[in-house]
Amino acid sequence: MTPRLRLLVANWALRLLTGEGVPDAIYSMECMTCGAQSEATDNDAGPAQEWTLSHTGRDPQCRVFKLHAETYWRTEPCQDNPYADIGLRGQPFGAPR
Ligand SMILES: [Zn+2]
Repeated sequence: MTPRLRLLVANWALRLLTGEGVPDAIYSMECMTCGAQSEATDNDAGPAQEWTLSHTGRDPQCRVFKLHAETYWRTEPCQDNPYADIGLRGQPFGAPR
């Protein structure tokens, strides 16, 4: 008996997750000197940037920061994908737009 290799190919699309309750992005800033981190805010990097300036004001040794910007993505089966008719399980933010 000859072994056979069966390859299955399916097309998937990657899309930004949108919908009610889904932020465009969640921003926070991390101090690379002491590890302190700002609060996370939805859709506005301003509070994290203001926190950065205040943090340096309190400790002038802290001058290097990392911006964390978190976004949510989903994969969707294309119309020719065998999973096209199967719904999603466990959507964290409700139904997509
Ligand atoms: Zn710091």
